[in-house]
Amino acid sequence: MQKLTIEDLDVKGKKILMRVDFNVPLKSGNVADDTRIRAALPTIQYILGKRGRLILMSHLGRPDGKRVEDMSMRPCVDVLAKRLGQEVRFTEDCMGERVEAEVAQLKDGEVLLLENLRFHREEEKNDPGFAQKLARLGDFYVNDAFGTAHRAHASTEGVTRFFKQSAAGYLMMKELDYLGKVIGNPVKPYMAVLGGAKISGKIDVITNLLPKVDQIVIGGGMAFTFLKAQGFEVGSSLVEPDKVDVAGKLLADGRDKIVLPVDFLVTDALDIKARKVGELQEVPAAQIPPGWKGVDIGPQSVEAFRSLLKTAKTVVWNGPMGVFEIDRTAQGTFAVAAIMAEITATGATTVIGGGDSAAAVEKAGVAAKVSHVSTGGGAALEFIEGKTLPGVAALTDK
Ligand code: AMP
Repeated sequence: MQKLTIEDLDVKGKKILMRVDFNVPLKSGNVADDTRIRAALPTIQYILGKRGRLILMSHLGRPDGKRVEDMSMRPCVDVLAKRLGQEVRFTEDCMGERVEAEVAQLKDGEVLLLENLRFHREEEKNDPGFAQKLARLGDFYVNDAFGTAHRAHASTEGVTRFFKQSAAGYLMMKELDYLGKVIGNPVKPYMAVLGGAKISGKIDVITNLLPKVDQIVIGGGMAFTFLKAQGFEVGSSLVEPDKVDVAGKLLADGRDKIVLPVDFLVTDALDIKARKVGELQEVPAAQIPPGWKGVDIGPQSVEAFRSLLKTAKTVVWNGPMGVFEIDRTAQGTFAVAAIMAEITATGATTVIGGGDSAAAVEKAGVAAKVSHVSTGGGAALEFIEGKTLPGVAALTDK
């Protein structure tokens, strides 16, 4: 890696300001899933083991620049303390005189967690004054929050301007090494599987991936805008009318590369929030009845995708194949998760690009059977596309 890493820093007795991704799900004021906290443990333990003084900072949720009590980082304190087997201190804010005083009290091998960065509007605005105040808290900066590396925020990008040495933590290193190896020089055939609700968010991804991959398999809600562009009726399925032309152009440019589902599971009623679907039917892609909505890929699509993906040597997957929040419409997504595990067993390299797809491989019980599950959804996608991640670019070159 051409960026400084945590192992290049002499952390003993030094204050290390470290950006982590503790954006954990909370339920009734408790951490419902501590995967993200566990993911940062190797770097945290390394620094504490070397007797560094560790100051951790993160965002949680979207408080939009104001203090929102139920988005406090406080519930992470006990979880982290338990995992580390040592006390974790907490400050009610992430910068300012009182926080600086608390940091000054830290002893070698002690750790402190700052309050939610996004309680301040300046964080997402990458405000230089705010970044400078954060920077005052440490001698070195470490970024181990791969999931937010695609954002140029004060704690991921701006802050590095005030440090001589900014380094990557172990989680960041692992993600960059893995994604970099796979994406930089993928063993061919190289295929992408893309799903999710909207095509608008994925147009750039498809455009950027088309020249790099051998095939792009498309599922999820965005498949219908492509079908519409091919002249099919899609009933009440999710379509972005203003994107039909772009979809048509992508199909023309992609010619034999873009693979769409051949059948769907359709319903006459869907309420995602209430986790409810009405009657379900399997229909060919060209025969979605008026008023019915496509909610998952059908069994023939699963088989077609399986045959194709079996021939791949490298596969990246991002986005569910259907409304996977509801069990009855999650089968296509789970089937793709199973295919990922199958092809990994026969020698393919498979990368799951975070977010919903990572949740799906977890739920399908195959997370340990794929090559790499990224902790970053958007960040992994942007990296796979070949974009520079500001949070990575900002780290000190070796
Ligand atoms: P995204 O955030 O774009 O990756 O989309 C994820 C969301 O897409 C999930 O909440 C899915 O429920 C939703 N989704 C996937 N397929 C469909 C579909 N056919 N119709 C409506 N929503 C879908």
